[in-house]
Amino acid sequence: MASPPRCGKPCLTPSLITSVYANRDYEPYARQRDREVMEFLGSKGIPFHAYKDHVIFEELEVAKGDGSPYTVFTPYSKAWKERAQKDITAFAHYPSESLTHRFFPTAPFSMPSWETLGFQPEAFTFPDRVVPEQRIRAYGETRDYPWMAEGTSRLGVHFRFGTLSIREKARKAWGLNEIFLNELIWRDFYAMILANFPRVEKQAFRPEYDSIAWLNDERDFEKWKAGKTGYPLVDAGMRQLNATGYMHNRVRMVVASFLSKHLLIDWRWGEQYFAEKLLDFDLASNNGGWQWAAGCGTDAAPYFRIFNPTAQQAKFDAKEIYLRKWIPEFGTPDYPAPVVDHGYARTRCLEVYKAGIELGKKGFSGAR
Ligand SMILES: Cc1cc2nc3c(=O)[nH]c(=O)nc-3n(C[C@H](O)[C@H](O)[C@H](O)COP(=O)(O)OP(=O)(O)OC[C@H]3O[C@@H](n4cnc5c(N)ncnc54)[C@H](O)[C@@H]3O)c2cc1C
Repeated sequence: MASPPRCGKPCLTPSLITSVYANRDYEPYARQRDREVMEFLGSKGIPFHAYKDHVIFEELEVAKGDGSPYTVFTPYSKAWKERAQKDITAFAHYPSESLTHRFFPTAPFSMPSWETLGFQPEAFTFPDRVVPEQRIRAYGETRDYPWMAEGTSRLGVHFRFGTLSIREKARKAWGLNEIFLNELIWRDFYAMILANFPRVEKQAFRPEYDSIAWLNDERDFEKWKAGKTGYPLVDAGMRQLNATGYMHNRVRMVVASFLSKHLLIDWRWGEQYFAEKLLDFDLASNNGGWQWAAGCGTDAAPYFRIFNPTAQQAKFDAKEIYLRKWIPEFGTPDYPAPVVDHGYARTRCLEVYKAGIELGKKGFSGAR
């Protein structure tokens, strides 16, 4: 090893680096970054090794018979499970997971405090990495109810930051609850879509949807962000997001549908807002979720299926537990009237979507 650096604090010089190891990232920006890092290191004669870690199966590891990527979830998940059944290493521990004693040794140094790094204390409780087996077993019955604090795993933030191995969780889910396993496969699916169709980062997966004439009313957008649309499930969800950095999946679907279909605001505005607020933000899953809700993605519900936020409220929060938790002024004159009438918004959405899609099919784009 070369003599220690003279910069007075721990630092790395190229002469100390013999090779670089990293996990693969499938976001377009990250791919470009990793290419540049690899080229830079290559110019210094230093090899760069990238490995799969973020997902179970990446890119084209689960592909159609002709080698092309799946674009529909159900056949993808079937092929995913077949592949996992044949390949016992799919869920195996990586050797690196038990080799922490071989990490590069450094002299002890004190960690800077959060405050000196510019962070402020928050009342947020970080979800546990260990989820009781019973919660996973009951997942199919509990996952749709936003008022249930323990109806879902709350593991998203751990997968996002790599503080829990996706292989470990999939290994446990296999045989325990197929509905839960399917959710983990959705995560792989969206990462696979982003890796194979990087254009979805900026465009609708179905190009004809990029001709929709969005209204993009800034005042409506502000009301949506603040949880003041007058639709309680939408408002409760947005307030939960603003206060905690988390929103229940059922409510994510409803607020996303509401923004793109009821308010006719470009789904990319909402996607961006989620990216700023969600602690479990993941470009692939967020983009996939938004495109699904707006009707323009892979596997999307047809655009003429429009969630009724009031009916969703009645079905999934019948006792108003979730809405009263997040909207203390509900039922008082302080709570706003609906920003738009549901029936009117529905008809308007159908007309605007239909016209946009027809334009798009004729090759017009960018009506935004
Ligand atoms: C508009 C919209 C935006 C979304 N944005 C994100 C995002 O930025 N990051 C993110 O991880 N998920 C996103 N999702 C998916 C889903 O809402 C969250 O993964 C889930 O709510 C996280 O809570 P949980 O960990 O309790 O999930 P659980 O219900 O316990 O599910 C377990 C895990 O499965 C995965 N998963 C579950 N549902 C989905 C799904 N539909 N798509 C992809 N993976 C899924 C997640 O990794 C999740 O942690 C979004 C969904 C929608 C509709």
